[in-house]
Amino acid sequence: MVSTVSDAIDYTANARSTISAVEAQRRLKQRRQMLLLQAASYAVGDIIVLIYAYAGKVSFVIPSMFFLGGIGLTALFAVLSEVNFGDRFDDHFLTSFQAVTNITMQLAFLLAAPEIGFLFLTVVFVIFGFAALRMTSREAAILWAFTGFGVVTIFFFLKVPIALPMQTTPEWFAGALSFVATLGQCAYIGLFGNSMRRTLHRRTVELKAANRRIEELAQLDELTGLLNRRYIMKSLHEEMTRAQRSNIPCSVAIIDLDYFKMINDRCGHPAGDEALRTFAISVFANIRAIDKLGRYGGEEFLLILPNTASDQAVRIVDRLRSIISEVDWTAISGDLNLTMSAGVCSLRPADFAEDILARVDAALYRAKDAGRNRVVAA
Ligand code: GH3
Ligand code: MG
Ligand code: MG
Repeated sequence: MVSTVSDAIDYTANARSTISAVEAQRRLKQRRQMLLLQAASYAVGDIIVLIYAYAGKVSFVIPSMFFLGGIGLTALFAVLSEVNFGDRFDDHFLTSFQAVTNITMQLAFLLAAPEIGFLFLTVVFVIFGFAALRMTSREAAILWAFTGFGVVTIFFFLKVPIALPMQTTPEWFAGALSFVATLGQCAYIGLFGNSMRRTLHRRTVELKAANRRIEELAQLDELTGLLNRRYIMKSLHEEMTRAQRSNIPCSVAIIDLDYFKMINDRCGHPAGDEALRTFAISVFANIRAIDKLGRYGGEEFLLILPNTASDQAVRIVDRLRSIISEVDWTAISGDLNLTMSAGVCSLRPADFAEDILARVDAALYRAKDAGRNRVVAA
């Protein structure tokens, strides 16, 4: 019933879906470890039964059968495990089948050798404890009813008391060994459950971080790392609503790179891409934390300046224009020189996004018409 902790908690998540070869291999490894521990538990149990047989408490048939039963059951599940039989079920460990067959075997021995029946009862507890870690509440309830019915029926029909003899030294030794082994197994169940909880916690934290990252990536433009068009438009709506509700100023600028088509033609598309990235970094490094910059189109960028009136916005954007014109673009390509033009406009109380964007666009065209490398207010 025991197993390794790593990744054990996600077996239901993958249930009924086709699993990859790597996943199948990982599951097989987990099952092998579980069955190995099960075989070891049976070996210890068999030693204890053997000592009782040596002490004359039970016939040697009992340890022989216990050995054959334990090894037989473990081997049966090992074969099923090796052919990946469990992968078609919710629980590839086949916990319910394992629990029912192993508990049935213990109850059979309880009936056959009640003189040492306490030993088999403790094994039932251990099996139940391990199984409960992997079963659903419904499966656990059914197993509980099954085991309870079995034990109570045997109690009812047994004419001799269920015992754990401790009179002679070998008996005392077997009894002590039985308790020490059971205690160890109980501790293992507790630790295993705890590790499952910690693994689950770690997975949850990792999943949250991954989700955050996915969310971030969905907001960003791949080439420049700035906000993408969808997200900068969302930000525009948010900033406009905030400014209009609180009656505070807000300005918007559209920045367009000058003669960019020519740069692509002269220096090549990769150099054009590099220029876009350099432009994005240069502007981003020179705006305030409250400002929002996004890629509006190919070489057009939308800059939102919250809490900023028109004249201040023009000063800010003109400073950016000056910075861009002073960047050493020759580092990207020998004779590359790049400037930007921008239209700037401040928000009016009744503006919709289309209204302010239309005015900014008109201002940008005037900047282009006037010879480029300049900022024009609407
Ligand atoms: P203007 O000064 O009038 O703005 O001239 P322009 O050449 O910049 O104008 P236009 O809008 O006609 O050209 C924009 C060019 O930007 C065309 C396109 O090849 C280029 N471009 C758009 N997106 C990208 C991109 O992601 N990478 C590269 N390398 N070039 C791009
Ligand atoms: Mg353009
Ligand atoms: Mg352009």
